[in-house]
Amino acid sequence: MEKRIVLSTPTMHTEEIGYINEAFERNWIAPLGFNCDGFENEMNEYLNATVSAFSFHTLALCSGTAALHLAVKLAGVKRGDIVLCSDMTFAATVNPIVYEGGIPVFIDSETDSWNMDPTALEAAFKKYPEAKVVMLAHLYGTPAKLDEIVEVCKKHNAVLIEDAAEALSATYKGKRCGTFGKYGAISFNGNKIITTSGGGMLICDNTSDRDRAFYFATQARQPAPWYQHEDIGYNYRMSNVVAGIGRGQLLHLEEHRGRKTKIYERYQKSFADLPLIMNPYPECTVPNFWLSCILINEDSGIDPMYIMEKLSKSNVEARPIWKPMHMQPVFAENDFVKACENAVNEGIFARGLCLPSDIKMTEEEQDYVIDIVRSCFEK
Ligand SMILES: *Cc1c(COP(=O)(O)O)cnc(C)c1O
Repeated sequence: MEKRIVLSTPTMHTEEIGYINEAFERNWIAPLGFNCDGFENEMNEYLNATVSAFSFHTLALCSGTAALHLAVKLAGVKRGDIVLCSDMTFAATVNPIVYEGGIPVFIDSETDSWNMDPTALEAAFKKYPEAKVVMLAHLYGTPAKLDEIVEVCKKHNAVLIEDAAEALSATYKGKRCGTFGKYGAISFNGNKIITTSGGGMLICDNTSDRDRAFYFATQARQPAPWYQHEDIGYNYRMSNVVAGIGRGQLLHLEEHRGRKTKIYERYQKSFADLPLIMNPYPECTVPNFWLSCILINEDSGIDPMYIMEKLSKSNVEARPIWKPMHMQPVFAENDFVKACENAVNEGIFARGLCLPSDIKMTEEEQDYVIDIVRSCFEK
């Protein structure tokens, strides 16, 4: 293929530029303003549509990582505190814990959703009864086993933070990811299901936490005629121009999800006879299918890196599964808790692969990818 087939890149429509133009015409370029307010309000409505009472409040920020950092801060993580954290995820899930001096303890995944295993989480609370915060990532847009995890958190009186950076619009029993924890974070980074080029949002389940997050995100300025500071603050707000992109993108979120779903289903159908499974999801969930992944059967003898190289030679981008945090040199000293003898995550990492899931990919291009993957299994 002359054109490179990619994992996931921005897909723009026409409304985005309209909101940006409005910001330029009104000379409202600087942080905050009508697009930020509009984006937050529209996202509030979107998230609250699946809950019985309007109870979630968003704060638009410069990145998903900033949202996670403020969540960790608001959850009260202090130097030396243990935080029980998803193991198979992007480093941005974990780093904010360390920014606040917390000590991440990594929790293995289960095989039904590739997310945090509630049984391993319970085991971690036995080992670390003092833990008060849980950081849960929803991998590749597939919701974790939320009922079980919420119950374990309640039992141990722990605050749940949801890293829903990859999972915007995914639902668990009809309710959207990011609205199960006390705090949720979403990302609008360039490769996510909708993007603002870069950006994120914090979701709080009450207004006073949202106010507190706003305070930290705007340099912790006290109400006084001069600049008065009692805390260390951050410059974390989203710009009014960038928020305009987000407003336009949000109009197309469900459409993006629909196209991602079709891509996943097409791979699934085409690979039905191969010794592999697609990234699995529990029946009570509707993922957003941000990335389609495969997990190759152990006895097939096929190495995912072999498939990745073959794809790469044909100008197709593929990527290994997130390397588990407990295998990362930077976290070599951190504990890892699993529920069974062999770590589930090590198996998924060794035998998994992310396939092109860009919603601009044509059926013809996807067939091209499918043919290459299939050819790797031919004897
Ligand atoms: C993308 C991502 C983030 C970080 O979001 P940014 O907006 O890039 O800072 C955090 N966690 C996960 C799981 C992600 O995939």
